[in-house]
Amino acid sequence: MKAITIEPRQAGSARLENVPDPAPSDGAVLVRAMAVGVCGTDVEIVEGKYGWAPLGRRRLVLGHESLGQVVDPGPSGLLKAGDLVAGIVRRPDPVPCPNCAVGEWDMCRNGQYTERGIKQLDGFMSEQWRIEPEYVMRLDPSLGLLGVLIEPTTVVAKAWEQVARVGQRAFWEPRVALVIGAGPIGLLAALLGRQRGLEVHVLDRVASGPKPDLVRALGATYHTGSVADARLQPDVIIECTGVGQVIIDALRSIGAGGVLCLTGVGSGGHTGGESSADLAAEIVLANNVIVGSVNANKRHWYKAAQALAQADHGWLRGLITRRERPENFARALERRDGDIKVVIEFADLA
Ligand SMILES: [Zn+2]
Repeated sequence: MKAITIEPRQAGSARLENVPDPAPSDGAVLVRAMAVGVCGTDVEIVEGKYGWAPLGRRRLVLGHESLGQVVDPGPSGLLKAGDLVAGIVRRPDPVPCPNCAVGEWDMCRNGQYTERGIKQLDGFMSEQWRIEPEYVMRLDPSLGLLGVLIEPTTVVAKAWEQVARVGQRAFWEPRVALVIGAGPIGLLAALLGRQRGLEVHVLDRVASGPKPDLVRALGATYHTGSVADARLQPDVIIECTGVGQVIIDALRSIGAGGVLCLTGVGSGGHTGGESSADLAAEIVLANNVIVGSVNANKRHWYKAAQALAQADHGWLRGLITRRERPENFARALERRDGDIKVVIEFADLA
């Protein structure tokens, strides 16, 4: 079968090539790939900055934002042929740490977890893939191609759960949420905020392209410029950029008792010499919490599947701005103006 593979830590090593069919040891469920979403992590892996090959091998099948159709459901009885499904990305570490032992692999403490398409396990950018039945998430069949959005939705389902759990340390009736960054994660965070009945604001750098209209179509408000310019005192901020100065600005604007959830992974950059003691004083005096959130466990996958099924499918369609064939995977990895989510289509979806 054909697969998009890379040699981790080797820039420019990506290629579409013939590989053996998926091994039965990957899992009893056989899935025909429909589409795979591309994200910044895939770009980093292709640029040689990230990623680990399976033990004893040099190359890794890329791709962690999966969508497929069950060919062989295996003996578990949990699935049937034709089901629309996605594969959960992370697997618990082998020790396991206490969190992995109870199924909270997203909270792994020792970093020895593995991940499909990223860390030591083949990903989903192949014509077929196999998976363990307990790591399959079934999707509402009406979603079709839109089901490829589930993996980024799991990330925000977890982020919103974390915010709610932190908020409930005190009386908690949040009203206003600010999402910073209107990429796929930010837009899906805004969707889930609206589904929770909040007044949602989204801030991004761009003033044109599809993002402002997508935000307004949710019944949310779009802002450009700085966080301070938005003149809000949000109860919740979901930060999706990872930009240092933006994070400082978010801390400065959050309301009393508010929760700042960081989901963006940035690096470097220096802020304008803020005193950490002054910032800490602001956090103390307003009872603020900063919480980091990464990855997702099965509970979040389930919640994400529900959120997508309930969302306006026309709105979700607006997030998928480009579809490329596997032979043009290099184009799928390019960042172009107006791109939100780019997907590689392995099969035509009815
Ligand atoms: Zn663990």
